[in-house]
Amino acid sequence: MSEILKMYINGQWVLAQSGATRAIVNPANGEKIAVAAEGDAADAQKAIAAARAAFDASLWRTVPAAERARMLLAVADRLEAAGAEFARNETLDNGKPLRESQFDVNDACACFRYYAGLATKPQGQTYEVADPMQAMTVREPIGVCGQIIPWNYPLLMAAWKLAPALAAGNTVVFKPSELTPVNAVRLFEILEQVGFPPGVANLVLGAGATVGQAIAASHDVDKVAFTGGTKTGRSIMSAAVGNLKKISLELGGKSPNIVFADADFETAVDYALFGIFCNQGQVCSAGSRLLVEEGIYDRFIARLVERANKIRVGPGLDEGSEMGPLVSEAHLQKVLDYIGIGIAEGAKLACGGGRIAENGLEKGYFMAPTIFVDAREEMRIVQEEIFGPVLAVLKFKDEAEAVRMANNSIYGLAGAVFTGDGAKALRVIKQLRAGITWINAYHPTYNEAPWGGYKQSGIGRELGTYGYEQYTEVKQININLKVEPIGWFSE
Ligand code: NAD
Repeated sequence: MSEILKMYINGQWVLAQSGATRAIVNPANGEKIAVAAEGDAADAQKAIAAARAAFDASLWRTVPAAERARMLLAVADRLEAAGAEFARNETLDNGKPLRESQFDVNDACACFRYYAGLATKPQGQTYEVADPMQAMTVREPIGVCGQIIPWNYPLLMAAWKLAPALAAGNTVVFKPSELTPVNAVRLFEILEQVGFPPGVANLVLGAGATVGQAIAASHDVDKVAFTGGTKTGRSIMSAAVGNLKKISLELGGKSPNIVFADADFETAVDYALFGIFCNQGQVCSAGSRLLVEEGIYDRFIARLVERANKIRVGPGLDEGSEMGPLVSEAHLQKVLDYIGIGIAEGAKLACGGGRIAENGLEKGYFMAPTIFVDAREEMRIVQEEIFGPVLAVLKFKDEAEAVRMANNSIYGLAGAVFTGDGAKALRVIKQLRAGITWINAYHPTYNEAPWGGYKQSGIGRELGTYGYEQYTEVKQININLKVEPIGWFSE
């Protein structure tokens, strides 16, 4: 890629007004793969103005739902047809192994199709109220939606944001992470080809502190949907206060994965690895706290470490790579700092713990799968989101202790339980203060079901019908079935 990746504002591909650019780097080798326009607040304002004008002119909301659905289906078809290129881009940009990128592309297509389907489904309800009135509700788009996403799932998070917002008739100002803009640009090329009217979908590239902040603070934005870190979520929420815009926040996590002694041993080991090491651990819902019942603790760790040591770390485009590099040198350093913190706190490093910089991996941001054992609840490596391939393992005695430890977190995004006892599984899950849970599995997630967190893991839900509703306002309409004077005041 040698051209400059541009922004898409009001139906035009544009450079940053300031002329600034940013180099986009392949995390597997530190090489430049693209140069992107680096927008700032002025570019964000242009995009917001375009989205505002398009919404206020009803350019999109009045397009019949069946037509909006057809266009979203066309987006999915084109994305699918270019799937191999999107998957390759995703791996070059983010680092994840190609098989994960392919999975993300398929999931993104399914997301566009799901919301295309929902656009034409019944939207309102009727209510029997006092005679002679009939009450009903209709759902209407919220207006201009600002959408800000992180770098860990650049394409999939774009689909989660754009598909429901556009299906519901909103106009959008979308900002990908400044680290991983490539597929957002390609996706907007598809939106252009499919023929969305100018101003309906706008793409602004640039940093969070400038572009993101401008979107969150603008009084012309009616809703901001954000996925990213909890600290950033807090600043988005305070920036949104000015015009009391609607907010939905998908934030961080430190999710517990509970393994009881009566679990299917190899299944639990397998999912524990998948829970923390897929996408290099850069997953908001990662099972980063593993709680293991004392009776199987030693045997479980031995097997886990044996398997973790066999994970093949390498460039995502290499066939056979099972774990790629972390997204950036700065992020790798942040994760490595936590290794020092864990050791200083007294946790025992059972495997990994360092950068891998040999056998051709010298220039990339690779890290070995890392497992800390004998961790204690108060440790920072147990309480704080590390967002890398670092697992903290803790031992528990019984069900009550497992539940108490699992809930000992400011976060509440996800959680899982492994056991052969169905009643115990459901009993434990019902006590977990978390929005996304699994019994005898970790990580599978579907467009059909709501996604989001309890506690400081977020506000609101994405995906499913909940995700659609969060891009709509509800209007009640009261219809008088007997049109005559009410006679309340005397003549
Ligand atoms: P981040 O919060 O640093 O950045 C996310 C996005 O926000 C980026 O586009 C960034 O440019 C922008 N941003 C940064 N500062 C901003 C500001 N002050 N105002 C407006 N926008 C701003 O997060 P990240 O490092 O890109 O991603 C990692 C985080 O994302 C992790 O904490 C992870 O848990 C979270 N995440 C959550 C979910 C979920 O669904 N709950 C999914 C994926 C990632």
